Formats: sequence, structure tokens, C-alpha cells
Amino acid sequence: MHEVGLMTSAMETVLEQAQAHGARRVHRIVLRIGVLAGVDPASLRFAFEVVTRDTIAADADLDVDAVPASAYCAKCAKEFGVDHGYIVSCPRCGQLSGDLRRGRELELSRIEMS
Ligand SMILES: [Zn+2]
Repeated sequence: MHEVGLMTSAMETVLEQAQAHGARRVHRIVLRIGVLAGVDPASLRFAFEVVTRDTIAADADLDVDAVPASAYCAKCAKEFGVDHGYIVSCPRCGQLSGDLRRGRELELSRIEMS
């Protein structure tokens, strides 16, 4: 389950940050996840429960910011929204593009702690 690996590495960063700031409690963790990143939200929440158990983040809330996917059309020099992740065609000119600009994000965007 790749959500566990993802959450484990996110939590390593969170705990490092908490330690660096002398925090005793982590209240909220916000992740930015692209809709094409292949992450299942339910599995992610489950992984979060597992990896935060017995840590200072045990009572923290997990928020997920879903990042919509978009690809770039070189011909129009514009981005357009897509709902799948391989070769997509521009809705303006029909040009095929494999240049996905957003939608595969997997990153820690915010940590709230005290
Ligand atoms: Zn175009």
C-alpha cells in the first residue's frame, strides 16, 4: 500500500520539524495531493492513524488539499484541465499533449504545532 510509505515519510518530516521547533504537539497536517497521484484518501487516513499512533501527532487532524490536474498545450501556450493522466488533447485546438503540469503532487503543505 503506497499510502503507508507516503505517510511514513511525511511523518518523518513532520516529527523533524516539530523537534526543530521544540513543539510538543502537532495539531494539524495538511497535504497537497494531485488527483492523478494515485492516492486513495481512505487508505491515506488509515495510514495516518497507524503512523501517528504513540507520537506527538497522535491527536492531529489530517487535511488533504486535492490539486486538480492540468496539462499544457504548446500550440495555445495555455494550460487546460484534464481528468486522466497520459496523452490528452487540448480542448481549444485538439493538439495532443503529454505535458502534465499539475495533478501528481504529493507534498506536505502545512504543519500546525505548538
Ligand atoms: Zn491547444
